[in-house]
Amino acid sequence: MLASSIMLSVRIICLHALAIATSAKNFPAQLKEHCSNNPAGPLRPLAHHTTCPPLVDDDTFVPSNPGPWSYPPTCVIAASRTNWAPSSKKEKKLCAYTASSIRGGSALSVITTTEIAASMSAMLLDPDIAWLEKQRGGVSLTDFRAEAHKVQRITGKGLGVVATEKIRRGQVVMVEQPVMVQLADWEPLGWKKSEVVRLLREGAAKLPPRERKRLFQMAHRGMGDIVDDVVRTNAYQAFVDGVEHSALYPEVARINHACKPNCIIRHSSTTLIMEVVAYTDISPGEELSVSYVPLNLVSDQRSSMLKGQWGFNCTCPLCSDAKASTASDDNRNRVADILKMLGGGSGLSSGALRAAVAEMEDLVAEEGMAAQIGDLYGIVADVCLTMGNLGMARELAEQTLDVQRWYAGVDNERTTKALEFWQEVNEMKPV
Ligand SMILES: [Zn+2]
Repeated sequence: MLASSIMLSVRIICLHALAIATSAKNFPAQLKEHCSNNPAGPLRPLAHHTTCPPLVDDDTFVPSNPGPWSYPPTCVIAASRTNWAPSSKKEKKLCAYTASSIRGGSALSVITTTEIAASMSAMLLDPDIAWLEKQRGGVSLTDFRAEAHKVQRITGKGLGVVATEKIRRGQVVMVEQPVMVQLADWEPLGWKKSEVVRLLREGAAKLPPRERKRLFQMAHRGMGDIVDDVVRTNAYQAFVDGVEHSALYPEVARINHACKPNCIIRHSSTTLIMEVVAYTDISPGEELSVSYVPLNLVSDQRSSMLKGQWGFNCTCPLCSDAKASTASDDNRNRVADILKMLGGGSGLSSGALRAAVAEMEDLVAEEGMAAQIGDLYGIVADVCLTMGNLGMARELAEQTLDVQRWYAGVDNERTTKALEFWQEVNEMKPV
């Protein structure tokens, strides 16, 4: 029922281009030796949080001790090892794993390396993630009302999700586990496209009927293999053990795009749980929206990205109002100019820096870009370090951490990077 229009649940791989642009690719991290751990794990760890999970592939799968997986995985060996770390001598396998139920809920298929699958095991076997709820500081994973919204037909868009009651800013309106997770950067590591597609199809085929149906109902562009197409069209970026993956969330994918959305997504790198959080107060009858493109883009950039990647022309309130769109572009260009000015202004006083940050904050608020303010603070904090202004760098690093915890999630990759930066600047000595 969804396939008739790619407008209804298209998706963005990365919601925050600034964060992506400023973070170095951790490549080829997936070749590191296992075993990893769960860095955001509970304060009182159980045995399976701290023991090293075994590597499981098609040769080593033990039916009597399958871990979280319900079937022996299907694996392929890379044909080339050109881009592998020199220390990596072993054959590396990419495998399709399926768990028929995670945490008593929906099923999941994962296409990834044996090392990353081993790291995921403890997380997938953990039935109790209450410790994470506590970390979130009052926003419980169960503190949402599924009946607060419903799927319905939206004029000109196919299906969409509409509020059935008043939803307050900050309220978690949707929580979902992924049905499919795929290693993102497999190509440079020597696996063939045809083999990866075979694994995707295998992963889809082993999902129980309910999840398989949800996956095949997701929007796609009609190009190439349907499962690969669905992943390309709908996947969100998800970091597993610090390595980039693409993850499918069928319910979240029903939410349509708006350039000034009333919801944002928050993603847990520890549990892979996706939350949709109200970004503004939402009235009954109002359609829920998220932005498929980075919030800071100007209209030309947004329309080109939306048309190019998802094949539709945006008709959201901002794009439909030429005057408002021009004013918005001016504000967003001004934010970019401020960052450029700061980057080139080595002699700026603290007063000038603070004035620039204050102007940026006003523009960000006006443009509904608050979910990106952490990334912007991070960029300015870097500039402050370059200028030798350690005091302000520390101040901004702390603000970055605070807002990333809220907007990105307490255990999101972006928050982890903000925490590392905060620790780094706090250990620095003034010169
Ligand atoms: Zn728009």
